[in-house]
Amino acid sequence: MEDCIFCKMSSGEIPVKKIYENSNFFSIPDINQEIKGHALVICKKHFENTLNLPNILGAELLDCTKNTALKLMKEYHAEGFNILNNNFKIAGQIVNHFHLHILPRKKDDGVNLLS
Ligand code: 5GP
Ligand code: ZN
Repeated sequence: MEDCIFCKMSSGEIPVKKIYENSNFFSIPDINQEIKGHALVICKKHFENTLNLPNILGAELLDCTKNTALKLMKEYHAEGFNILNNNFKIAGQIVNHFHLHILPRKKDDGVNLLS
């Protein structure tokens, strides 16, 4: 997809520092580090959101998500993590190329996602 920033990362046109990757997904640090360690799990192919993502990719998505979360917990000494996935503009999706957010969490970090 032309003008899709995550497609450009996937093709190598925009170089990225990958945290983890498998055949269909890769993860990178989010540019916004307001929550330390915030990372994105991105599909290598362009699908707009969760509804377009083929079910067959579910196992690889989980593999990339788990391995990324484990690495982040170790690196940032986090005790847990949240997984967030915005679908459509109304829900906060800005980049229309499937991705999950992983947010490392620590005691008293002040993050309150559902309020
Ligand atoms: P969305 O709101 O679509 O779920 O999330 C898009 C995410 O992509 C945001 O958290 C935003 O900070 C991140 N992002 C946007 N542009 C870039 C970029 O060029 N590099 C990285 N690493 N993250 C980006
Ligand atoms: Zn794309």
